[in-house]
Amino acid sequence: MLPAGSTIGILGGGQLGRMMAVAALQLGYRVIGFAPEGDNVAAEACSAFITADWDDSAALSELAARCDVVSWEFENVPLATVAALPQALLACPLRALEVAQDRFHEKQFVADLGGVPAPYARVESGEDFDAAIIRIGTPGILKTARDGYDGKGQWRVGSALEAGGVRFPGAPCVYEGFVTYETEFSVILVRGKDGAIRFWDSTANLHEGGMLARSILPAGALVEAQVPAARELAARTADALGYVGVLTLEFFATRNGPVFNEMAPRVHNSGHWTIEGAATSQFENHIRAIAGLPLGGTKTRFAAIEMRNIVGDASLTAHQILSEPGEPHLHLYGKREVREGRKMGHVTRVSHAIR
Ligand code: AMP
Repeated sequence: MLPAGSTIGILGGGQLGRMMAVAALQLGYRVIGFAPEGDNVAAEACSAFITADWDDSAALSELAARCDVVSWEFENVPLATVAALPQALLACPLRALEVAQDRFHEKQFVADLGGVPAPYARVESGEDFDAAIIRIGTPGILKTARDGYDGKGQWRVGSALEAGGVRFPGAPCVYEGFVTYETEFSVILVRGKDGAIRFWDSTANLHEGGMLARSILPAGALVEAQVPAARELAARTADALGYVGVLTLEFFATRNGPVFNEMAPRVHNSGHWTIEGAATSQFENHIRAIAGLPLGGTKTRFAAIEMRNIVGDASLTAHQILSEPGEPHLHLYGKREVREGRKMGHVTRVSHAIR
């Protein structure tokens, strides 16, 4: 167990790190963040922040010397950065990052455990792309295998004719068939060092432009019916990785059952509602897990919950948002630069407490 006063290192400087740091501070830990130059909004919640490139070995040695455990808030931290740290310091296994950083490996890993992804093919050239279109058909989506997030690095292919207008982008990709689904949902779990797993309720996730816009509970009958199978797969994935902390798997709820989309070896945007809406938030349970503390309950505390992202919009004031009905809880991430499509904060609204 990590004694109070110990130091947790967090790789990445975004809002997830900021909320992880707040949870760690509450439990009496110090936090040192680490990320390259940028709008590192986690820094304000950290005891110290190291601004350095991912390959700055002196800065990584300093992080290692000052921390008792190291976690990450971002799955695209270069593997070499994490591999350069003493492996005993890592809260979660490097293998989890390795698998999740490549869409092809991720789908294969989960399919080997019995999961059902959309039909997919690795695309490393224009010829591969043509072959994938013939084998899988259209409509589909070409996605860069690495570094894509929030719908970036993705090209929709409506028809074989349209495929001619989509150029292979030069970097390895995955082409996948377009899934007809009713709702998207995610399974968020926390796994302790002893292997015990707890799940939060699954919200219905509504996306706009490839990015999460809202998460809603209750998620509806179709999602609820598919959650048990999705949880089993998520638990098998966490066990196979020897995972510790919060792990997220995203699914499409289709008429033929849950179709696996992708996983995130970290806390997740679709779990922000757990701060006010669950007995213990995803952020606190992640810290508890990596610190070897007893995990907290994950039960939902309200009958109806909605989390809405505030994206690229600085025009709404805190006063306006907090005047809305439905017990709004506002989280602003303190980002200095407003850009279209940038997550600036979120609002969680809860109603009808469950006794
Ligand atoms: P991803 O980055 O893979 O999570 O994709 C972002 C969003 O694009 C997803 O949450 C879906 O809304 C949509 N999407 C991605 N892949 C597919 C697919 N194969 N079929 C239908 N919609 C998809």
